[in-house]
Amino acid sequence: MHQKLPKEIDPFRLAQNGLKLEGLLPLVGLSRLAKYLHSTEGNADIKMDFEIDEIGTPYMRGEFKATVSVVCERCMQPMTLNLDVKCLLAMIIGERKIEGLAEQYDPWLLENSDPILLKSVIEDELILSLPLVPRHDEACLPDDVWSVGEEEVAKVTEERISPFAMLESLKTKD
Ligand SMILES: [Zn+2]
Repeated sequence: MHQKLPKEIDPFRLAQNGLKLEGLLPLVGLSRLAKYLHSTEGNADIKMDFEIDEIGTPYMRGEFKATVSVVCERCMQPMTLNLDVKCLLAMIIGERKIEGLAEQYDPWLLENSDPILLKSVIEDELILSLPLVPRHDEACLPDDVWSVGEEEVAKVTEERISPFAMLESLKTKD
């Protein structure tokens, strides 16, 4: 059972009131994330817990799950990724305050205490959790596609550390 998520939130007020948000966020609405995806079908499953800790830091504990489709950079075919983000973000206004932050937190930088789009923080965290180079776990292309390139790399390395070249340079120093 899921309630509808609000479009905008006031994170500081949510923290003061110790509120929770839970619901589904359609991936198609996350345009920055969509640039990395093969398809925007489906939803992100969102759980957010807002609190203030014992030293007065407002924070959000988030759990975002989404099954997304990306393109494998090796075989260029679509593949499924299960994103599962767990984050603990302290709300901060002004970058100077990051230094004093307890180390269990990552900073959630806010410009001011105005309401913000709920999806922005979720989208940031989901994008951060994407692999830099998405690839199938299994060998999705036959080995011989790669062998030529690897041999060339090996040759270049040998030339660079040739012992004869080393000796030559020692001789000239004397
Ligand atoms: Zn692949």
